[in-house]
Amino acid sequence: MTASGVYMLVALVLLVAIALGVWVGRITSYRKSALGTSDTIPEIYIQGLNHLLSERNDEAVEVFLDALRQHPESVDILLALGRLFRRRGELERALRVHQHLLEQPALAPDLRQSVLFEIAQDYLKAGILDRAESILKELLDRQPDHLEGLATLAELYELGSEWMQSIAVRQRLSKAGARGQRPVIAMLYGELAEQSLLAGEAKQAKVFLESARKEDPENPRALVIGGRIAFDRQDWGAALSLWEKLLDSPVESVVLLILQPFLSVLRYAANDTDVQVTRERLLKMCNSPLAVKLLAHALQVVEGTPAATAYLRHVLLRQPDMRVMQVLLELDPDAPEPALYPVMAVAVRRLAVEPAVFYCQSCGYQSPQYYWRCPSCRQWGTFSGGYAL
Ligand SMILES: [Zn+2]
Repeated sequence: MTASGVYMLVALVLLVAIALGVWVGRITSYRKSALGTSDTIPEIYIQGLNHLLSERNDEAVEVFLDALRQHPESVDILLALGRLFRRRGELERALRVHQHLLEQPALAPDLRQSVLFEIAQDYLKAGILDRAESILKELLDRQPDHLEGLATLAELYELGSEWMQSIAVRQRLSKAGARGQRPVIAMLYGELAEQSLLAGEAKQAKVFLESARKEDPENPRALVIGGRIAFDRQDWGAALSLWEKLLDSPVESVVLLILQPFLSVLRYAANDTDVQVTRERLLKMCNSPLAVKLLAHALQVVEGTPAATAYLRHVLLRQPDMRVMQVLLELDPDAPEPALYPVMAVAVRRLAVEPAVFYCQSCGYQSPQYYWRCPSCRQWGTFSGGYAL
């Protein structure tokens, strides 16, 4: 069975469960009111499910839409069905189901809002952003604190690079009680600040950065951009005080964006002990092979090749690694000198040999033992030795 087949089956099981839930609910209410008994699932549900199982989706839609007249409780089934169609990319069908639901005069207000939200998502998935936007606005007119509606509208604006609009919606979200909005709003102000800088409007960029800092004082994006503005003004002290804060961040990746100007600032700023301490912290922060490589290249540009190779040798003595060795060989034609031989031997020993002797060419399963039939994907004759040298 294909992945989409499995998905369809799972979705159908869920639909059946909903249908049964509706049906049991009906029986319970019948029994409670002691009015007649209907111990069978309405024939029309069975018919609809049969159509779905046979992939006759249009017929299934017709049956369930017809059922709505006599069984108003099948709204849940139709909502689930519409979602299922949307996930499978059958957007016209999804919209048809949802529009039909919306046209029901007796639809309760909360259900109407659920349906509007579904329709907005249908349009969003179809890429018809202006329709999605107007539906979401209609939904939010009816229920201003609809969190999912607000979050979807914000994402829609971000999709269209309408940062100001998104900020306004996220501020509403924040007021309505949604968490984690302020760091995102700060990032969006960062987007606006970068746009202003590109347009040569440094003053406007600063205003946006100030707004970003109000939302999230240590926002890494605002720190990076603020430092860049100071750097361009040759205000080394201001750049340094902003970028130093990035060294407290738990992620090294942001600092990697500004390695070269950061090292330059450290060079230009007064050569006191504080600067040396900051340089040490920056070097220590670069831990991954990628970070070490980027830092070595930045050091080469700002402080010269000897500084870069001295740094790499220092890293290698502490942490023997072939990738770091490779960067050193790139920068220094005389490396490795005899002092590094033991380090190299350790690094080679640590190098993982992939794959582990035998592997399945079909599914990639690895094993030191040879199998005529792959124990993972159960195919015959797919085991092979390692990759060619
Ligand atoms: Zn296999």
